[in-house]
Amino acid sequence: MRHGTFALLLLLSPVASVLADNRTTEAEEAAINDPTAECVPYSYARVSDALTSFPAIGKNVTALLPNDAAGHAKFQSISPGIPNIAPRGTLGGDFLAALEAYNLTDTACWWILARCINPVVPGLSVDLWRVPESRTVGYAFEDGPSCSHNRLYNFLAEQGQTATMFFVGSNVMKFPLEAQRAVVDGHEICAHTWSNPAMTAATNEGAFAELWYTIQAIKLVTGVTPTCWRPPLGDVDDRIRYISSQLGLTTIMWYDESLNMVVNDAVQGYFDSNVGPILRTQPLNNVTMQTAIYDYRKLTAAFDHIVPIGVALNKTQPYAETNYTLPNFAACACPASFLHYSQYPLSSSPR
Ligand SMILES: [Zn+2]
Repeated sequence: MRHGTFALLLLLSPVASVLADNRTTEAEEAAINDPTAECVPYSYARVSDALTSFPAIGKNVTALLPNDAAGHAKFQSISPGIPNIAPRGTLGGDFLAALEAYNLTDTACWWILARCINPVVPGLSVDLWRVPESRTVGYAFEDGPSCSHNRLYNFLAEQGQTATMFFVGSNVMKFPLEAQRAVVDGHEICAHTWSNPAMTAATNEGAFAELWYTIQAIKLVTGVTPTCWRPPLGDVDDRIRYISSQLGLTTIMWYDESLNMVVNDAVQGYFDSNVGPILRTQPLNNVTMQTAIYDYRKLTAAFDHIVPIGVALNKTQPYAETNYTLPNFAACACPASFLHYSQYPLSSSPR
């Protein structure tokens, strides 16, 4: 422990001189409009004080930290029930050999192989990929928080639009004030993972730890405990579903990767009767945030409602904590409309 703290000080002290000193609150960070300035690293005490209780930021987690008594106790308590399904592929998402070797009867309900969403193992819930409301989008973004997301968040705020954010635990630790903005702006926070790995490649403990530390990071920084998650790349099977469900997380997939396909299906009337698509947008970065703004225009033209997934599900209590609420679908005055149209001319569309 002492050695770890010393190493951390060595690591942080040369950097400290170039850290931004102008932001300690969510409001300060949210007020910055220059993406370069937004992305100047800063130190945030709540995070720096807790770094030794978390794995390395941005690195795959393969095991619980040795001193994490609560993590080890929880993992041991769920271990006997974890389905006996072998890890496959690589954490980086190379499934080629695994796909070739895989038994085509798919007894694991591996989504990558068969787009399976109906678990074989008893007691597991079917993955969510649609919402039960007509002409309604379950609106979602992956991989945030991003240090340069103010442009997108400002846009969403201006439109009166909220969404579901699948946060990467490492990014929450890197950009805590940005993570807090999601809660302040009324977005719904779900977990992604700590480091965006292919989860079915992880060991039981590695998969558990990826989710465990993401939940802890979101709780530390934002005060809420997420109850939903999305597997990176959609890489989930019954072993991973079991582990996530034991951490209180509902698995949320998506309707179709292609926004044009989603819009086309809306035009064809696929969503006219008590069903709407859950979106998968590109991971957040400067370019894709710009794309998201133009995609939003297409969605508003094709759908009647665009809401966070939890709102479409009438999940008014989205977190383990009871002092945060989402509106239910009926109470959400959220028609799909594109405001301030002239500020976003088609000619500057990236497409
Ligand atoms: Zn991702």
